[in-house]
Amino acid sequence: MARELGPRIEEILEEVVGDTGPVLWLTGAGISAESGIPTFRGEEGYWQVGSRHYQPQEMATWRSFCRMPDEVWAWYLYRRSVCRAADPNSAHRALADLEEALGDGFCLVTQNVDGLHLRAGNSLARTYQIHGNIDYMRRADVDSPAIPIPETVGEDWTRERALDDEARALLCFPDGAPARPHVLWFDECYDEPNYRLDSAVSVAAACRLLVVVGTTGGTNLPLQIGMIAARRGKPIIVINPESNPFVSLGDSDRVTFLQGTAGAWVPRLAARIEERMGSAAV
Ligand code: NAD
Repeated sequence: MARELGPRIEEILEEVVGDTGPVLWLTGAGISAESGIPTFRGEEGYWQVGSRHYQPQEMATWRSFCRMPDEVWAWYLYRRSVCRAADPNSAHRALADLEEALGDGFCLVTQNVDGLHLRAGNSLARTYQIHGNIDYMRRADVDSPAIPIPETVGEDWTRERALDDEARALLCFPDGAPARPHVLWFDECYDEPNYRLDSAVSVAAACRLLVVVGTTGGTNLPLQIGMIAARRGKPIIVINPESNPFVSLGDSDRVTFLQGTAGAWVPRLAARIEERMGSAAV
C-alpha cells in the first residue's frame, strides 16, 4: 500500500514555498537500482582480472588505468553496456517532470555516470554529473573536453569480453593519443571543467531544500553539499532503504528520513513539490 508523505513533509513544503533558491536533488546509484543497474555495494560490484577480484575502489583509479588500461577499459565498456540497456525508471521520470515545471527552481547533482537522468529528460544545464558520464571519453594525456565514445565500439560488452585491437584503436584520438573514460576516479580530485565542482558547491549554498536519494555519501563532494545545506539550516529530506550519514547531518529536526526505495518515494514527493511550488519557484 502507498505510504503517505506525512505532516512533516507538508510542514517542510510550507516553509520552502516562502523561501528562494532552487530545490536541489542529490542522487546516487540507488536511484538507478530499479532500472537494473547494480550499485557498487551490490553483489555485482567486483571485477575479475586473471585470478584476482578487484573491488570498484581498486579498479576505478588512475593508478589501475596506468597499470592495466585494457582491463579498466573492458570494465567500463561492460558497465556502459549495462547502462545503455537500462531505461529510466519512475523516479528519473518524476525528476524530469519536476524540472519542466520548476525551471530554474530545480537543480540536480548526480553521482551517477549512467546518463539516465538526461535520457529521462533532465537538461544538461541543470544536471551536474559530478562523477562524469560513462558514455564519454577524453584524452588520457592532457586535459581535453569529453566526447562521446564512438558508436562503433558497440554496446554488447559482456563481463567476459576482453579489449581487442579494434576497440583499442577506437578508444584513441586522431593523433594516436589514448582516451580514458570520462569518470572521476577514486584517486582523483573534483574540478569544474570536467565535474562541475564549483557549480555544485554554489547551488548547495543557494538551495531552499535538499533531497538526497540513493547514496551512501561515501565520497567527499556529496557530503560537502549536505553539510553546506545543513549549516544554512535548510531542510534536508533523505530517501534510502537504509540509513546513511546524511540522516545525521546538522540539527535532527531539519533532516527527514523517508525510508524506502526511490521508486516508492521520489514520484510522490516530486509531484507534491510541483503542486505546492508550480511555475512560481525561481
Ligand atoms: P553506493 O553503491 O555506494 O550506494 C548505493 C545506495 O543506494 C545505498 O545507500 C543503498 O542503500 C541505496 N539504494 C539501494 N537501492 C535503492 C533504491 N531502490 N532506492 C533508493 N536507494 C537505494 O552508491 P553511491 O553512494 O552513489 O556511490 C558510489 C559511486 O559509484 C558513485 O561515485 C557513483 O558514481 C558510482 N556508481 C554509479 C552507478 C550508476 O551510474 N548507476 C552505479 C554504481 C556505482
